[in-house]
Amino acid sequence: MLRRAGPFLRHFLLERNCSVGYSSYCSEAKMSRPVQARRLEGVDKNIWVEFVKLATTYSTVNLGQGFPDFPPPEFLKEAFSRAVSGEKHMLHQYTRAFGHPPLVKILAQLFGKLLGRDLDPMTNVMVTVGAYQALFCCFQAFIDEGDEVIIIEPFFDCYEPMVKMAGGTPVYIPLRPKAPKEGKLMSSADWQLDPAELASKFSEQTKAIVLNSPNNPLGKVFSRGELELIADLCVKHDALCISDEVYEWLVYDGKEHIRIASLPGMWDRTVIIGSAGKTFSVTGWKVGWTVGSNRLLQHLRTVHQNSVYHCATAAQDAVAEGFQRELEHYGKPDSYFVQLPRELQQKRDQLVQSLVAVGMKPIIPEGTYFLVADISEFKSEVPDVPNSDEPYDSRFAKWMVKNKGLAAIPLSAFYCEAHKGNYNSFIRFCFAKEDATLKAADDILQKWKLEKTAP
Ligand code: PMP
Repeated sequence: MLRRAGPFLRHFLLERNCSVGYSSYCSEAKMSRPVQARRLEGVDKNIWVEFVKLATTYSTVNLGQGFPDFPPPEFLKEAFSRAVSGEKHMLHQYTRAFGHPPLVKILAQLFGKLLGRDLDPMTNVMVTVGAYQALFCCFQAFIDEGDEVIIIEPFFDCYEPMVKMAGGTPVYIPLRPKAPKEGKLMSSADWQLDPAELASKFSEQTKAIVLNSPNNPLGKVFSRGELELIADLCVKHDALCISDEVYEWLVYDGKEHIRIASLPGMWDRTVIIGSAGKTFSVTGWKVGWTVGSNRLLQHLRTVHQNSVYHCATAAQDAVAEGFQRELEHYGKPDSYFVQLPRELQQKRDQLVQSLVAVGMKPIIPEGTYFLVADISEFKSEVPDVPNSDEPYDSRFAKWMVKNKGLAAIPLSAFYCEAHKGNYNSFIRFCFAKEDATLKAADDILQKWKLEKTAP
């Protein structure tokens, strides 16, 4: 009877039973029906939980998770202080749902300049709770049951569950490493798409491709030629491009970040995703944005309106001021967009040296603040376990944090289940760290090197 009763009646009956002395029945009345929605099947495991816990328990130096341990720029902190303790008390209240007007205006101005087109702040820009929510809005807004979404491996791990939760099917294509020149370290540019393989992944069912340039975890900055290849296939198959460009300002060695939306035929089918967290080293603020045509963004607004609705006003106001300042200093030596990559490039080179010393083979990233290193030479020190379900890099990363106190993330975490085994001898480090943190990592690695060479 209880099962057949509707939810309100069921509640009423259970309450009644309790009040007339059926308390034992009531305490046993646990829910027996499955509570988990079908869309969560297969997406409930997440390696971050385990690795964050390991890092907290064992690490003395944590180069695992991707966030800076240095302070954000003074001008941005001051802007936030002004927003929360200044006279504009309305900054403590809701603002426009699709983006605080000063922020969408400045983003439209900046991206209009970068893309060479007039952007309407109200229809071509939408502010989100970090780039994470921008991604979520895209998949929810565009992907239907049966749609395929092409994901380039290695990929930022949330793409896969987000596609699945929207009812779509991820179709994976790996970047394939080419051997570097004799005696040279590999570069992230050596990891490339096979054009024929990429073309073979597009089909009638392809609704979108996710592009992440500069790429987390490799640090690859896609070249114009590579972007043209992707763009041509998108146009040919009438597919969307969800372009995650959160590391757009973090490119090194004079490389240029090219926006795929600026290529012929792409504006109409691309959503650009950005993050103040990465742009201004404030990952905790969770301010992100989408830029694109109104034809696309109108659907993101529907998802946003009916999910989070709104992002913290004070943080948006401070980010708007930050961009205002950057626009005024654009291209000048005191611009944060010039200074931050310059400092990070030095940190990258410092970490490369430390890793080489211990016998790892770093893949030099062209962008982002991540660096992937080859650990295949360590199999005598940390033996592989044949036929284990756990990829070698995961085993190695756990061993390293427990025995050396240094935390990193296994690269296999950035591959689909079927491909993890093919790319299981690399680990990812984050070098957006204070010099003291990188020095502490170097101390660990130098000590490790001495232990390896000791008779
Ligand atoms: N995309 C990529 C590639 C990322 O690395 C991250 C953060 N690690 C995000 C999106 C999410 O950014 P946010 O913190 O702004 O939500």
